[in-house]
Amino acid sequence: METIKINEIFYSIQGESSYVGQPTVFIRTSGCHLRCTYCDTTYAYNDGKLLSVDEIIKSVAQHKTRYVCVTGGEPLLQKHIYILMKKLCDEDYIVSLETSGDIDCAKVDPRVKKIIDVKTPDSGEAGKFSEKNLPVNLKNDVKTEYKFVICSKEDFSWAEEFSTRHDLFRFNTVLYSPSFSKINEKWLAETILSKNSKARLQLQLHKYIWNPHTTGV
Ligand code: SF4
Repeated sequence: METIKINEIFYSIQGESSYVGQPTVFIRTSGCHLRCTYCDTTYAYNDGKLLSVDEIIKSVAQHKTRYVCVTGGEPLLQKHIYILMKKLCDEDYIVSLETSGDIDCAKVDPRVKKIIDVKTPDSGEAGKFSEKNLPVNLKNDVKTEYKFVICSKEDFSWAEEFSTRHDLFRFNTVLYSPSFSKINEKWLAETILSKNSKARLQLQLHKYIWNPHTTGV
């Protein structure tokens, strides 16, 4: 049987990527081989339960949305994740994948929007990027988005240099997301403007919506 270790399946607002704001079902797989300094899903490193691909699709179908996001952990560590994404696309879901960038995405169904992380020096996992995931090597029906979590001024300069050298800005969306506790989003917005960066600022919308300090209706 085709099974995948799943940490959680839940319905929420997409907080990232060009699908931001869409009501989405998230399928969070269990397990990650990296240890980023800012990781906010450490609970998914080990905990999870084996579910069949059909059980996962059944669970997704309980929600009234066509948007599904496969995330982790690192989803591509599990061999049956490819068949899950293909079946979801066959059933006309709009599927996105969030991946660390360290694993070749060639086997991912081309209908899936890939949001590929590029780990910066201050992520603690610099150098964990497979060059097979550069636009020149990927065949996409839906354009890939590259995401940099920016933790410092040095990370910003590094991301600009990497994106320019690999021509990411030309056909792909490049997302710069401030590391939630490490840098100020206003500083990142102002730096994108003052440096004439072609990157798109991405705030993790879900963290603002469900910030425990928010009050009122
Ligand atoms: S790749 Fe993602 S899940 Fe894995 S350690 Fe980094 S932030 Fe956490």
